[in-house]
Amino acid sequence: MGKKDLNTGLKLGVDSKWQYSPAPESTSHINLKKKYDLFIDGKWVAPSSGKYFDTINPATEEKIADIAEANEKDVDKAVKAARKAFGPWSKLPAKERAKFIYRIARLIQERAREFSVIESLDGGKAIRESRDVDVPLAAAHFFYNAGWADKLDYAFPGKKPEAIGVAGQIIPWNFPLLMAAWKLAPALACGNTVVLKPAETTPLTALKLAELVQEAGLPDGVVNIVTGAGSTGSSIVNHNDIDKIAFTGSTGVGKIIQKSIVGTNKRATLELGGKAANIIFEDAPIDQAVEGIINGIYFNQGHVCCAGSRLFIEEPVYDQVIRKLKDRINTLIVGDPLDKNTDIGAINSKAQLKTIKDYIKIGKKEGAEFFEGSCSLPSKGFFCKPTLFTGVAQSNKIVQEEIFGPVLAVQTFRSVDEVIKKANNTPYGLSAGVWTDKGSKIFNLTSQMRAGVVWANTYNKFDPASPFGGYKESGFGREGGLHGLSAYLNLN
Ligand code: NAD
Ligand code: MN
Repeated sequence: MGKKDLNTGLKLGVDSKWQYSPAPESTSHINLKKKYDLFIDGKWVAPSSGKYFDTINPATEEKIADIAEANEKDVDKAVKAARKAFGPWSKLPAKERAKFIYRIARLIQERAREFSVIESLDGGKAIRESRDVDVPLAAAHFFYNAGWADKLDYAFPGKKPEAIGVAGQIIPWNFPLLMAAWKLAPALACGNTVVLKPAETTPLTALKLAELVQEAGLPDGVVNIVTGAGSTGSSIVNHNDIDKIAFTGSTGVGKIIQKSIVGTNKRATLELGGKAANIIFEDAPIDQAVEGIINGIYFNQGHVCCAGSRLFIEEPVYDQVIRKLKDRINTLIVGDPLDKNTDIGAINSKAQLKTIKDYIKIGKKEGAEFFEGSCSLPSKGFFCKPTLFTGVAQSNKIVQEEIFGPVLAVQTFRSVDEVIKKANNTPYGLSAGVWTDKGSKIFNLTSQMRAGVVWANTYNKFDPASPFGGYKESGFGREGGLHGLSAYLNLN
């Protein structure tokens, strides 16, 4: 990227002119195999078809490793292993089960650097995010859920919490390790066994997690990791000895899964897409709000289901907020995910970059006014500048549809009623943000928003104790907190 004079703003904790110089994280001591088999029944086994696919580094377009493609037969093997392991695992004294889960948590902490680097290599996210958010939060989920394992009788008084059985878990590519932790930790704490499938573009940290599962000494078959694309996921969903499906991904696939489990005894939780409204009132702490809006939409390249992708600005502060937003966007550094200065890493895949670019074209065609950051982009890899559309209408595609990229659509409003109506007017209902100095406005708004999570004067705050999940086409069920555990229990 060369030397550049940039005002880095708050994100890096530097607020004056600062000389940019590359600070790439070293990739030495990162233990990666050239080829990954399937992790079934505590062993690494070759896929029965003999087929492997590439996982690439989206910042360089270079191949990292060969990944086994699991077919129906392999999934069946994994489900059988999980079924065999279920009896002994679920009958293990809960505090013994907890010890294994604590061990996984501690091993993630010990390998935090390695996990962060691999997460950024495989998926493209900025190392600062992998290091400060994804990896510590993944460990925190294992710690939190381990703590509940032997307290479930107290958590659900009058009930007899029982593990459900074999859980089939399918996760997306935007938070590969963190999503694996969200899925595995509560399932294991409740005494279930698991067949988990990571996304095809980001399988590496889940496979590294399988190594930790081995190292932590979990009994064979309790955790099985199978890799592959949609058809592997479909084999999990349609296997007749799966008791519960936990899916995080697109609304389209969520609907397919819902249809395929009709008439079966499978339970399901679906965490799907979103199109969150971030609402800023004239009495808001404006500078803080601008930081929150930036974080809300550009965090993880905008590949975030709860991304604050629609911004509503109360009219009197519109000019001021837009000016500050544009200034701040111009300070953002897009580039090498392994560089510690990078704010916005690589778009996860070529296909996703195309989707984003298509939406930007649509937005322009729909007549919205386009703005993008002044940074330069690397010559190789999949990158997109932080962008902003103003003058958009409620019916515009870029307002109604999830883009899953660094694209913010801005509207104005004059009254609370108006903004609530508009904010609720999409098919989704996952999250929202509100920025104001008035507590009463916060309460009024949160009670009327059809959103599973509403942040006030902050955004993208996650905690293992907080339930997360959606309304409407954002899915159903909650992950995190006791809600998340109850999704893996029969509570009779
Ligand atoms: P996707 O639905 O295409 O894929 C998600 C996972 O499902 C992948 O592992 C994929 O291989 C698998 N899959 C694909 N087709 C399948 C099928 N027919 N049956 C079973 N499994 C199948 O979504 P994506 O592009 O990977 O992720 C982006 C989407 O995920 C966005 O819409 C985003 O909002 C959503 N998401 C939601 C949350 C949440 O918590 N609500 C979190 C992250 C991502
Ligand atoms: Mn990859």
